[in-house]
Amino acid sequence: MTLKISVLGASGSIGRAALSLALSFSDLLEVTALAAHSNLAILNEQIRLFKPALVSVSTDELRRELASLLADLPRSLQPELVFGESGLISAAIDSGAQMVVSAVVGAAGLKPTWAAVNSHLKVALANKESLVLAGDLIMGKALGTLSPIDSEHSAIFQALGGRLRVPELKKIILTASGGPFRGFSRKDLESVTRQMALKHPTWSMGPKITVDSATMMNKGLEIIEAHHLFGLSYDQIEVLVHPLSLIHSMAQFHDGSILAQLGPADMRLAIAYALSYPERWPIVERAERLRAKSYKEELDHKKKPEGAVKDLSDYQALSSIPDLSFEPPDLHAFPAMALAQAAGRAGGLAPSILNGANEEAAAAFLDQKLSFIGISEVVGECLERLHSDERLESIDQALEADQRAKALAKQLIAKRF
Ligand code: NDP
Ligand code: MG
Repeated sequence: MTLKISVLGASGSIGRAALSLALSFSDLLEVTALAAHSNLAILNEQIRLFKPALVSVSTDELRRELASLLADLPRSLQPELVFGESGLISAAIDSGAQMVVSAVVGAAGLKPTWAAVNSHLKVALANKESLVLAGDLIMGKALGTLSPIDSEHSAIFQALGGRLRVPELKKIILTASGGPFRGFSRKDLESVTRQMALKHPTWSMGPKITVDSATMMNKGLEIIEAHHLFGLSYDQIEVLVHPLSLIHSMAQFHDGSILAQLGPADMRLAIAYALSYPERWPIVERAERLRAKSYKEELDHKKKPEGAVKDLSDYQALSSIPDLSFEPPDLHAFPAMALAQAAGRAGGLAPSILNGANEEAAAAFLDQKLSFIGISEVVGECLERLHSDERLESIDQALEADQRAKALAKQLIAKRF
């Protein structure tokens, strides 16, 4: 029996990794829908490879352009092409998929994730922003159908045997690589550039999450994500910097035992577990076979060396690993994580405001319109100025708060530029 999947954010880093698994496991996975924003070149290739029934892009113009790129395909292989927010939702729920790989970046991922949850579909969730904006609402409906892709949360999920709620769990320790600026002082950070921020030491990811990793906002968003996924209080979630990114996170139980998950920094492991849990698929062996078929030339535009999954189990690999070192995060140099923690604790609309301001500020930094330290300053100011005691009752309310924060952040950034 194959599992029918819809991949939202198909042209992105997680989407492409998920589709590389669909190639390795074509006997277990069938791709019924794809969605992206505007990358038609990649979608064109993916459509030819995976023959989905439904494909969504951001605008009607892009939809028409994609239709002309696909004009040579026989009618039976032409997918239904849709667009915009309704198209993205349709890609989540209307293609006959049993599981949605939610890997659009940012708040744009919330509505299709929510639609999938409400349609009782399984969701393999990479889009952490969905849980930051509306974790209570989503988890109220998705306990039992949602599995995390984020590597730290996958590590905990694996330590819990593919469960999200385990009463014996005492606390979790999320590990952080520390990003490219680990050890930098606040003063050093005043002059770092976009190019420097985009060089992550251990993971290869999309630009927004790479910037979030450099500011450590990513870890802050992950704290909120973990709070919702595992039903833990903020006091039960600790963060340690672990520069090797070998231990992806740890779960401590009431008897004092700690279970840690180790693995190479390769998102395919976490994605595969989100699809197969509590079973595990032989991805090391299959990816090796796939390498022979040169996946990277077929699908990845020769950008990223996919193929082999690093095997850490042999003596040489293990003994070449230096000491497993850990250090506390430097919240003075990297205040974004503390801002996220505070927003998470405050609850209500604060996490949506945090997220909206951060999306706008990270984009402005990538656009070279805001300095690196300006990112957390803008987020902090938005949280202060938009403070509200409103409770979160609906998805629309969360998205409105996200939009309000984006608008204010935009103004603040324009003033500084
Ligand atoms: P990328 O930037 O690589 O990819 C983003 C994807 O989302 C692209 O397919 C993009 O399409 C699509 N997209 C963006 N905006 C829209 C929109 N409005 N409508 C439809 N599609 C849209 O991001 P990543 O793959 O790195 O990250 C995706 C999510 O996964 C994020 O939430 C991130 O935090 C999370 N994540 C990522 C990890 C990683 O290793 N990369 C690890 C853990 C979590 P297009 O290409 O056409 O612009
Ligand atoms: Mg992560």
